[in-house]
Amino acid sequence: MFGIGFQELLIAFVIFGMIAVPAAVVVAVLIRTQRSQQDAVLRNPNLVTCPDCGGTVSKSALNCPHCGRPRP
Ligand SMILES: [Zn+2]
Repeated sequence: MFGIGFQELLIAFVIFGMIAVPAAVVVAVLIRTQRSQQDAVLRNPNLVTCPDCGGTVSKSALNCPHCGRPRP
């Protein structure tokens, strides 16, 4: 009834959905993880961001627990 054009459109739509939806989920999770780390630094005055690895480190820590940088 719809002809081959509709079938091709449907297949292209399904393939696009299989690629675009997981990619969008991965990007959303990455952005959320970065924001939650920044929020933790803003909420807790005893936390600083390590300039070497960007990880969250306590001000009283002698070394960064992520990369080992002394006194981040
Ligand atoms: Zn570090």
